[in-house]
Amino acid sequence: MTAPLAHRARQAGPARPAGPAHRLPPDATARAVQVAVAAGAAAVLALWWQDTEHVTGAAQWLTGAGRITGLLAGYAAPVLLLLMARLPVLERGVGADRLARWHAWGGRYLVGLLAVHVLTVIWGYALADGRGPLGEGVDILLHWPEMLKATLATLLLLGTGLVSARAARRRLSHETWYYLHLATYLAVALGFGHQLATGTDLGPGPARLGWTALYLGTALLLGWYRLAVPRLRDRRHRLTVAEVRPEGPGVVSVYLTGRRLPELRAEPGQFFRLEFRTRELRWAANPYSLSAPAHPHFLRFTVKDLGTHSAAVAALRPGTGVRAEGPYGAFTARRHRTRQVLLLGAGVGITPLRALFETLPGELTLVQRARSDQDVLFRAELALVAGRRGARVHELLGSRAEIGDLGTALARLVPDLARHEVYLCGPPRFSADAVRALRGAGVPRGRIHHESFAL
Ligand SMILES: Cc1cc2nc3c(=O)[nH]c(=O)nc-3n(C[C@H](O)[C@H](O)[C@H](O)COP(=O)(O)OP(=O)(O)OC[C@H]3O[C@@H](n4cnc5c(N)ncnc54)[C@H](O)[C@@H]3O)c2cc1C
Repeated sequence: MTAPLAHRARQAGPARPAGPAHRLPPDATARAVQVAVAAGAAAVLALWWQDTEHVTGAAQWLTGAGRITGLLAGYAAPVLLLLMARLPVLERGVGADRLARWHAWGGRYLVGLLAVHVLTVIWGYALADGRGPLGEGVDILLHWPEMLKATLATLLLLGTGLVSARAARRRLSHETWYYLHLATYLAVALGFGHQLATGTDLGPGPARLGWTALYLGTALLLGWYRLAVPRLRDRRHRLTVAEVRPEGPGVVSVYLTGRRLPELRAEPGQFFRLEFRTRELRWAANPYSLSAPAHPHFLRFTVKDLGTHSAAVAALRPGTGVRAEGPYGAFTARRHRTRQVLLLGAGVGITPLRALFETLPGELTLVQRARSDQDVLFRAELALVAGRRGARVHELLGSRAEIGDLGTALARLVPDLARHEVYLCGPPRFSADAVRALRGAGVPRGRIHHESFAL
């Protein structure tokens, strides 16, 4: 029996390649963000420069280092939160995976800056006062305004740094790590008073106003995009599970239906964070990509059982409520520049490529890497789309040893590989091998668009 929604997704509609909405260079937003963040950091350093006539002696050098690292840490904290604020311009222009990488990388710097700030300030003042660092530290903690809150903030941030270190993260479930990580919001709020009360470079005037605006603006944007928008969308679209269908071993497609779906403006290649309203899955919002272009009456996601959340999706019943945050992601036609396109997917990484295969303009070749014949996903519908579009589909089956060198295998399947733009999605090891193979075949780095399923 063919159920109506599944049937419509499999029919895949007439080929309807869509042109990219903007013709900006693919990395324009990312570069603009990097320039803006660097300019902000330079402006912060200028605050110290403007307030410093001369630096003489070890004590002044140390407190100077403390002021600079304190200012940079105070600036980095809201910037790192803004990267995670789900701002549509960043989610679509930079991409959630790259934002998460920048956030993690910046988080390590923030922890380093804070540690140096604390040590150099205490040591510098201890030298100036001619006392030991321990006594000076206790004095600062007990008598300077807002210091207790700032100390708690520092401890929370250092603790977050510890639980985010690779070794610790491997031992924690994603949800435990995520909820512990939320302590950073409290830490940033607690640290703000200290910056205004004791920051000698943030006295009354434009600097203080700008600093306050940065923190207030960040709080408003976070509140709007992370709390208000998902709830408003939830009420407007009222998504529910319409159907769950097996697709392959451990893989199911889940169809969501709801009201006013076209207003979501979801693009092929994008993903949503889905929270299913069951007792087991409430509180966990996991990311899943659209595995078919958004239909006016349903959205399709295809999920492989890799853990508790993804395995429970197979047992969802029609009518289950769903909170969907999104659409997010920059792995879309907006990155498309070249006529010849290779869509290269492995395992469940084929999901966003399946949606893009239907709509991306140009001459398309799709290569699906799977361990065995049973693991191939969407075979029939990919063939249907390929027939309609005059596109090519290849399957690369077998173990790594059977496939041999990935570059050679790809060159055999895709003539003129170097002229292609590539959309790549698969497990980390496959993606790393694929990037190496593609670079070796002469595909420039800027023409390889990669979506990572690990945020
Ligand atoms: C942008 C994006 C798109 C994705 N699209 C698909 C898709 O279309 N189909 C599909 O089957 N899978 C997809 N995934 C992967 C999917 O989100 C994870 O497999 C799923 O969340 C695992 O959760 P779990 O509780 O079942 O397993 P766990 O055992 O909890 O986790 C397994 C792995 O998934 C990671 N993970 C768990 N929860 C999250 C989370 N909330 N956010 C990010 N990573 C998490 C864990 O760090 C771990 O590496 C996507 C991931 C991302 C980041």
